[in-house]
Amino acid sequence: MKRFPTPAAIYRELNRYVIGQETAKRTLAVGAFEHLTEAVSGEKKGESIKKNILLIGPTGCGKTHLIKTLARILGLPYAIGDATTWTEEGYVGSNYDEVLWRLYLAADKDTEKAQTGIVFIDEIDKIASPGRADNSGDRDVGGAGVQRALLKALDGDIISVASNGSHTYRSRSIEMDTSGILFVLGGAFTGIENIIEKRTGKKNLGFTAPANPENSKPETLEATGDDLVSYGLIRELVGRIPVISPIHPLTKKHLIKILAGGKHSLLKEINQNSLHYELQFTFTRGALKAIANDAILKGTGARSLRGTINKIIEPYIYNHARTGHIIEKQIQISLKMVTTLLNSGNCYGESTIPSLRPIIPEASIL
Ligand code: ADP
Repeated sequence: MKRFPTPAAIYRELNRYVIGQETAKRTLAVGAFEHLTEAVSGEKKGESIKKNILLIGPTGCGKTHLIKTLARILGLPYAIGDATTWTEEGYVGSNYDEVLWRLYLAADKDTEKAQTGIVFIDEIDKIASPGRADNSGDRDVGGAGVQRALLKALDGDIISVASNGSHTYRSRSIEMDTSGILFVLGGAFTGIENIIEKRTGKKNLGFTAPANPENSKPETLEATGDDLVSYGLIRELVGRIPVISPIHPLTKKHLIKILAGGKHSLLKEINQNSLHYELQFTFTRGALKAIANDAILKGTGARSLRGTINKIIEPYIYNHARTGHIIEKQIQISLKMVTTLLNSGNCYGESTIPSLRPIIPEASIL
């Protein structure tokens, strides 16, 4: 029998790239291990129940990043779909099977390979239909109908997949056996904490910003299948998702680690890119904290970090290109520079661009 990495080895590998999200990393490591030993090895036992996974948590905190990283380290094809763009068959719009077509393309049109890949369906909460979820005769665009359309894939049925997501006379189609595809669903499920609070009588912080963003570890939030049904997912869909894992809001500590902690940090990547212009950036601890604080205020998790950093370093790249010769290779970004630039919103104003001057290398945190 072919040997596959253990769940612990998959977790360790995920850990190198994904900050925080301990529960989700472990859940996905186990899910991936089962996927490898059953689907990828070709030893799936006929009727075993598909272990579809749901990741619940705020935007920008690593759901997509986790799936992309997992697929990359396992060497599996993957495709990411957005449930909000889908409509029930018969309505105008794209059909959910377009994500399966993209999986087929990601597997270089090798159907066998595609059938062992990973599909991540994001924004699943946006097709919830509160108050009508259990009405199985209900048909609506982008709601319970789309949820019902997903059932076949989550069951592992054979699905006819069309090249443009809807079966028209011009489209090509292939038959795809979905029993070996690892399906992961994701959503922010904003407001589900109220449903959980009502059920448990306890205040739960897991889905909202952490009370103390410095370093607080949010309470583990356990959404049950019933909570998801109350939220508006149809019971048949919930019944096909045996594994639910929370994604926590990122704390300031996590955000600083994503920015500057180690080999795969954002700053490392930015410095690698800016080697082309012979510039290297270092950020003081205060500057990093200010950038992390700004991300927490924006409420977009780690998503805004790259944009903020770009906004800060752009004037230096601009200046450098304008002068046409190297003035300074090492640039240290201080707290003052960050706050001035973030507050001004005008990154090119002369007064907001601190002059380039030599820095003390020890002050670098990289
Ligand atoms: P989500 O899918 O939860 O909305 P993403 O995974 O798309 O969020 O996150 C956006 C970007 O932020 C990612 O591409 C990644 O660069 C960064 N990021 C988010 N969460 C993490 C994390 N936990 N560890 C490392 N980087 C992260």
